[in-house]
Amino acid sequence: MFKRLSITFWATVFVGVVCLSLVGVDVWRSLNARSEQLAEMERLGANLARAMAQQADDTIKAADTALADVVERIETDGTGARALARVQRQMQTQVINLPQLVGLFVYDEQGRWIVNSRGTPGQAYNNADREYFIHHRTHPERGPHVGHPVISRSSGRWIMPVSRRLNKPDGSFGGVVLATLDIDYFRRFYQSFDVGARGAVALLSDDGVLLLRQPFDSSRVGSSMRDSELFRHYAQQRGAARTGSAFFHSFHDNAVRLNSFRPLEHYPLFVTAALSREEMLERWRRDTFTSSAGVVVLAALLGFFGKRLVDQIKLRAQAEAELRQARDALESANRTLERQAMQDGLTGLANRRQFDVTLGNEFSRAMRHQDTLAFIMIDVDYFKQYNDLYGHSAGDEVLRAVSKLIRALTPKRPGDLTARYGGEEVGILLPNTDLHGAQAVAERIRQAVEQLQMPHNGSPFGVVTLSAGIATIAPQRGVHLAGMLVEAADKALYVAKSEGRNRLSLAP
Ligand code: GH3
Ligand code: MG
Ligand code: MG
Repeated sequence: MFKRLSITFWATVFVGVVCLSLVGVDVWRSLNARSEQLAEMERLGANLARAMAQQADDTIKAADTALADVVERIETDGTGARALARVQRQMQTQVINLPQLVGLFVYDEQGRWIVNSRGTPGQAYNNADREYFIHHRTHPERGPHVGHPVISRSSGRWIMPVSRRLNKPDGSFGGVVLATLDIDYFRRFYQSFDVGARGAVALLSDDGVLLLRQPFDSSRVGSSMRDSELFRHYAQQRGAARTGSAFFHSFHDNAVRLNSFRPLEHYPLFVTAALSREEMLERWRRDTFTSSAGVVVLAALLGFFGKRLVDQIKLRAQAEAELRQARDALESANRTLERQAMQDGLTGLANRRQFDVTLGNEFSRAMRHQDTLAFIMIDVDYFKQYNDLYGHSAGDEVLRAVSKLIRALTPKRPGDLTARYGGEEVGILLPNTDLHGAQAVAERIRQAVEQLQMPHNGSPFGVVTLSAGIATIAPQRGVHLAGMLVEAADKALYVAKSEGRNRLSLAP
């Protein structure tokens, strides 16, 4: 099955397989590079989210520690003038030491400004309407409260309020201690991240309010993101599942981004780093395009030269086949020529040349093996008259018919040979045959020709007949020559002729 398929078939298959595997390897490599790129993107997002969550946690924690200090002081020392002066100095120091702090404020149970880090009691605001104030008034918990971002009444900047409740000695609501954190402090930190041209990072509260987004848009600060895919997903998660990543449509511009989200450790906030998939895959696309173009060109070149090669192979195979054919024709022509060179054209018997060669060979063999070699010389009677009477071509026909008969009646052992010896003379060489055997052969032939009853008006027999002279020899080296056998048979033939023809004569 495999042997029958031609070399050109296999060459074509080979070129095809090489082209296909080139393309296949490239596709495989590209897909690999793509998932690699996406995995890289996920790692990058997760690392960003971790850094942001850590920073936010630390920033708020420092402010909260300051808050706890102030709460402790006031609850211990009361709100006397000297005690407040000490608290105020302490608050001033904290604000100087902590760059994220805009200010520290203490309000009484009515929301009135008792003391603050700036030491300007004149500008008193009442913050009883603020969300954090209401929260602490209505909740007895002593822990920190992170509020929604607001524009500061004292500075006009976006701030994040972090507050704790003040208790009176009897445990009832005594006011609020507030730290305001500069949103810009976070922004400066977020600006230092490279999230690409279309990436974004954001800080959100666990109830879905946007505290800050980079790229920054002040109109979005404090807005609700409850309806975003990101928040809906995040809000459903519990425990460790709150840290993760997924593709979401952006709430802001509807672009698909990979969002890596992570909650803060101590505060009800979470961060998200969103990287644009398109942007991340852009370089991959460029690389893939370049390498694919290269592979396509390579495959095309390979295909082109492969085809040329296959064509060449085809041509060569064709030429070889033609050459083989020509050689076969030549060989058969040679065989014909060879045969013709050894054959007589008219009778199809061996010609004189072959007879001479065979006689020489058989003579030597008989000499070596001390065998007898017999020879019959046959001559058609009154043949000159036949030609004269019936024409030369009729004479040829007689020669053909007689030859055919002779050939049929001659033994066909190896070494036996019938040859046209002369004009209308046929010689029969019979190796390893005695006089008696040869005589039997000659007699069979003579009778057969006579019985053919070919009319011959120029012969006293009225039909074509023939005479034969028979001789044998057991050749001995140095005594006999091949020509002697022929000569003896010829002499015997002469005897047969002179004794009246249509008969045999044996050499003495
Ligand atoms: P004889 O009985 O003594 O043999 O008489 P003959 O006439 O046959 O004499 P000979 O054997 O000498 O005859 C030879 C003749 O055979 C001469 C020629 O006319 C004829 N002959 C020889 N070769 C050919 C041949 O190829 N074709 C034809 N048609 N005749 C041939
Ligand atoms: Mg003759
Ligand atoms: Mg004759």
